[in-house]
Amino acid sequence: MSQLPDNPYLLLTPGPLSTSPTVRQAMMKDWCTWDDEYNQLVQSIRARLVELALPERPECFDQYVSVLIQGSGTASVESVIGSVIPTQGKLLVLANGHYGQRIAQIASVLNIDCHLMDFGETGAIDLDALDRLLAEDLSFSHVAVVHCETTTGRLNPIERIAPIVKKHKCDFIVDAMSSFGGVTMDVAALEIDFLVSSANKCIQGVPGFGFIIANRNKLNDCQGLARSVSLDLYDQWQGMKNGNGKWRFTSPTHTVRAFDQALKELYEEGGINLRYQRYAENHSILVEGMRSLGFSTLLDDASQSPFITTFFNPEHADYNFKAFYLRLKEAGFVIYPGKVSDADCFRIGNIGHVFPEDMARLISAIEQNCYWQKSSDLTTA
Ligand SMILES: *Cc1c(COP(=O)(O)O)cnc(C)c1O
Repeated sequence: MSQLPDNPYLLLTPGPLSTSPTVRQAMMKDWCTWDDEYNQLVQSIRARLVELALPERPECFDQYVSVLIQGSGTASVESVIGSVIPTQGKLLVLANGHYGQRIAQIASVLNIDCHLMDFGETGAIDLDALDRLLAEDLSFSHVAVVHCETTTGRLNPIERIAPIVKKHKCDFIVDAMSSFGGVTMDVAALEIDFLVSSANKCIQGVPGFGFIIANRNKLNDCQGLARSVSLDLYDQWQGMKNGNGKWRFTSPTHTVRAFDQALKELYEEGGINLRYQRYAENHSILVEGMRSLGFSTLLDDASQSPFITTFFNPEHADYNFKAFYLRLKEAGFVIYPGKVSDADCFRIGNIGHVFPEDMARLISAIEQNCYWQKSSDLTTA
């Protein structure tokens, strides 16, 4: 491992995130995209993803499939939206942030009939309003929602949304990009038809592809529906299935090798439950530490995910996010700007190859770099 350069800083962002040296090491070889050994690896990754999505439910493994799609996570979202909704279908998007809005934007560009229920960037999803709308308008065929809305860090209650979606006989699409692998999810119990995530979030791989866990029967109905060639989810599935792990177009081979290693490390860590516990511990050290330094969180604790947290920028004339950011980068930590339009915030992620000791080091680095507090102490002294 020692020949690998050390990382210049720890990424406290929601992806790409800090990876282990062994995940990065796995990329140091070139692999042939149509070689049997490589294709078997792809098949094994696909099977392991289905297993992760169905904890302790081997009887359901046959009912779900996974498909890998080249590109960033948005390409996989676009692949689902563009490939599973028939011409006469209609999509309802439940949004409380940027990523929910992006789903509606994709539908609009693809000329898919779509209604956006927007609860505002800091609002919770109104389940009664959802139930009423689906009861009044019977034309909806699909409902899409983001699980962890990375804009704020809110965890939307998919376990309460799913029964409403199913009561009204709609298919359920979940963008679980920044949560899958970080919290236990049972796609069968949640009746999710299409779940989307990507290599570089809670599985702790590097960027380059996303993946879809799909209900096999639902995906089987999607032949010929796609509005794109390269993002045709059905064709990509058929290509991988019939070609025994072969990608239709050039595969991100290095990223796939790194992902295989990342899956092994998730298993070695003890699986999703133990990874969740580490993230939860990281998160509580972060939030308690930040509160002790006078920072406050945008969301209340009950709606907050343990993956990424939004903090208000201090209201102090001498405070400037860029200066704070650069000082922390110098100290070895990269934090994330805010994305909420009507609140002055920044974000700190705690997923990736990041441990409680790192969060404790971060809190002391922040304490040493609250330069605006020091200047006010000086003026009041
Ligand atoms: C990261 C993320 C995406 C995908 O973003 P890309 O930049 O395309 O990888 C989509 N949805 C959510 C909720 C995310 O956190």
